[in-house]
Amino acid sequence: MAEAIKLDRVTKRFGEVAAVDDVTLSIAKGEFFSLLGPSGCGKTTTLRMIAGFEQPSEGHILLEGEPVEDVPPYERNVNTVFQSYALFEHLNVEDNVAFGLKRKKVPKPEIAQRVREALELVSLEQRADARAAELSGGQQQRVALARALVNRPAVLLLDEPLGALDLKLRRQMQGELKDIQREVGITFVYVTHDQEEALAMSDRIAVMHDGKVIQCAEPEEVYERPDEAFVAGFIGVSNLMEGVVEGEDKVKLASGQKVSAALPDGVGRGETVQLSIRPEKIALDEMQKGMVSIEGTVEQRVYQGVNTQVTVSLGDGARIVALEQNTYIVRSDDRWEPGTKVKVGWHADHCLVLR
Ligand code: ATP
Repeated sequence: MAEAIKLDRVTKRFGEVAAVDDVTLSIAKGEFFSLLGPSGCGKTTTLRMIAGFEQPSEGHILLEGEPVEDVPPYERNVNTVFQSYALFEHLNVEDNVAFGLKRKKVPKPEIAQRVREALELVSLEQRADARAAELSGGQQQRVALARALVNRPAVLLLDEPLGALDLKLRRQMQGELKDIQREVGITFVYVTHDQEEALAMSDRIAVMHDGKVIQCAEPEEVYERPDEAFVAGFIGVSNLMEGVVEGEDKVKLASGQKVSAALPDGVGRGETVQLSIRPEKIALDEMQKGMVSIEGTVEQRVYQGVNTQVTVSLGDGARIVALEQNTYIVRSDDRWEPGTKVKVGWHADHCLVLR
């Protein structure tokens, strides 16, 4: 695996705050790599150190194998696309994209060709003459992207580039960004707090919390096999239920029910654990062979169009949320009336035991 970026035990302190805390990461050439986490977890600071706008307090950053401590931002083979597009509103699309190349005194015919190619990539070749201010948010974001791609950087850093767009446009742009990335083969490092976005676009995701990388893996791995309760709770919805280990593969939930669950290595009797189960993995009443099952009472149901979300009380304040797909059901009115006693079940291998 050829390495585009390496962070080797990188820490960044602002006064007492460690915004990035001993992070080691290796990002491959051509990879779509996302930094995902809640506000303030250190994503932007990580990105800014790769770009060269901030220097690590400790540790090293290497780009294509070379340490970059002494390389200023404009000499690094990386480009950054920010959430605010910062286009020159009075210039037209073409001149916005050509701006950097003109400053570098690239020959005119080459500029013309590279700008044309970049605009084709983002499907804006028809709007080359439009002024930036006349464009929609999505189109402006495309211009910002073309302006970065035209430099042919080895690495493109993107900081919440779709943050200002409405949900529908955002989803559409996610697909387009991914297609462009595949086409040009540039390494993308993508900062987002939107877990769906990260799952949909990334080859790998680093989930960050309090300046640390908690888990770094492929989307499916991060979603299906979160290492820690924080990851399970942050990526998608997860039922986290507290319990105490009673013996080999037996956990007693805080609400009193006993369930079987495969314990991770080193977890023993008497230890407090969290059981994590995704709502879509939970069956109500219709149990399949081999399922773990407990009893509860329907507390609430919320019709969501695609799904109906059913909250079941397990007693003693504990709850579990199930998501039922409305494949054959038009409305949920005649199902899961609050107060109904219900069996709640799951396959043991869909239940993760986390410390
Ligand atoms: P967001 O999604 O809100 O942008 P983030 O994950 O990108 O958050 P960072 O912007 O990297 O987080 O900030 C991490 C921490 O470092 C925060 O506590 C922030 O207040 C602090 N921080 C960032 N930049 C500076 C700075 N220039 N001076 C002081 N503290 C800073």
